[in-house]
Amino acid sequence: MESAQRIEAVARAVESRDPVTGEAWRTFTAATPEVVRHVVILARAAQREWAGRPLGERRGVMERFRRLLVEKRGAVIELIQRETGKPRVEALVEVLAVLNFAAFYGKVARRVLKMHSYRAGTVAMIRKTVRVTRDPYGVIGLITPWNYPFLMPAGIAIPALLAGNAVLLKPSEFTPSASLLLGELLREAGLPEGVLTVLPGDGTTGAALTAEKLDKVFFIGSEATGRKIALSCAERMTPCVLELGGSDPAIVLEDADLDVAALGIAWGRFFNAGQTCVAPKRVFVVEKVYDAFVKKLAERVSRLRAGTGEVDSGPMIRASQAGVLREQYDDAMERGASVGARAPVNAAENPCVFAPTVLLNAPPEARALREETFGPLLPVVRVRDEQEAIARANDSRYGLSASVWSRDIVRAEAVGRKLECGSVMINDCVFAAGMADVPYGGVKASGMGRSHGVAGLLEGVQEKTYVIDPWAGWRQAYWYSYGPKISAGLENYLKFEHGRGIFARLVAGTRAVFALYFGRD
Ligand code: NAD
Repeated sequence: MESAQRIEAVARAVESRDPVTGEAWRTFTAATPEVVRHVVILARAAQREWAGRPLGERRGVMERFRRLLVEKRGAVIELIQRETGKPRVEALVEVLAVLNFAAFYGKVARRVLKMHSYRAGTVAMIRKTVRVTRDPYGVIGLITPWNYPFLMPAGIAIPALLAGNAVLLKPSEFTPSASLLLGELLREAGLPEGVLTVLPGDGTTGAALTAEKLDKVFFIGSEATGRKIALSCAERMTPCVLELGGSDPAIVLEDADLDVAALGIAWGRFFNAGQTCVAPKRVFVVEKVYDAFVKKLAERVSRLRAGTGEVDSGPMIRASQAGVLREQYDDAMERGASVGARAPVNAAENPCVFAPTVLLNAPPEARALREETFGPLLPVVRVRDEQEAIARANDSRYGLSASVWSRDIVRAEAVGRKLECGSVMINDCVFAAGMADVPYGGVKASGMGRSHGVAGLLEGVQEKTYVIDPWAGWRQAYWYSYGPKISAGLENYLKFEHGRGIFARLVAGTRAVFALYFGRD
């Protein structure tokens, strides 16, 4: 990386900016396409050496990283808070989740990555042994957003590195420092130089990265950027995993505990200032309990503390993001929506602060229901019954996750099965995306591929198969030359494998052996 940085860079800059004060407290030069190209070359060499190390050594690095993170968590939390403005609890949750990821992948890596051997399954192939190895892809590009600037990169980088890949991480231009700190901690834990390189920069740097010859790309971010990345990858036949936006439904059934549902949904939506891909963004409440639910939700929300500092719901990352949310709010109001509740804020003058707001009576065509809302705005919709709730929930271009709130778990699961999404939480929301052992990802415009869980580790490897015939001196029955004997042999073999009647099958099997193995040229 040092030699890469010596390459002259065009003076584009990205900043770590404090959303509370607006102060830019750290500035980095964005990595240019030339820097990116050079770093890919360095990463390729470093990856070969890293993948050649025994898995035990790679696990050792992750274990030291985990210890180091426990020790230095105070500094990490402080940095996340400074870069995002989020309250301490939320920064702490990020660190805790990363610790869980390091522990989980350390635990399952050996079982998942080991070679599998088995004897081939059909009688014709009985001589053969099959071995399947799970090899690293090589050099992986990882492009991440700003909302969980430590967790998002770590949740993908940890399994990818354990599998033996090198990772080139392009963090969001809004939060470069958290990723750089992640890189520093991993290096301090013993990760060799060049195996994880952080490339500060904006979309131009990200585009330069996907234009390189990478072995796989992982992208977390908006649908619009995801499409560009998918196109760039398609041109180069680079496989990619896309974790994109969502407009997750929460369905409140008539038998839900309404206190729990109101608190849970309010937390899920206003946690991280509403900037969570899997936050409940559209709430569908069956009419029987609609009024009671809205009353409880409104009570909860009007008691929240919001704004800056140690509050329940902090500032948004940039004034521009809050501006988009205001437009979505204004659009809903113009279309006849009303405000069901609004939390008091302690810094109304701060352009990054948007008061957590419950929106009622927004019509289906309102932007807040059709687009992703990435901030503390919560539309609640009255529906007739479960069926209408499911239909409205699925009436979205997105399909990331969903939540169902009910005391009847069998019924809630049945509702969950009808929802078009990648994961469903019952009587909770959001957290599945931060659980190390839970596969996570979306359907429809919310993306493709999976991260986290064993599935996330498998996304970092390609299976390579070896089919071994130890009978080196024996020809295969299906080789040349073709003629009546091989046709008859295969016909009989087909009857043996797939025919009816044990006796007839045995006769066919014996004929097949004679035709295929004896008297052939
Ligand atoms: P974004 O798409 O604007 O940016 C994401 C990253 O892509 C940034 O690092 C950015 O610099 C980079 N980028 C921008 N243009 C690029 C290009 N042409 N080529 C390559 N890289 C480019 O998203 P954001 O505003 O940072 O994040 C918010 C979005 O992320 C929301 O839609 C949210 O739902 C989504 N998100 C999804 C998940 C998930 O796991 N599904 C998690 C968190 C956030």
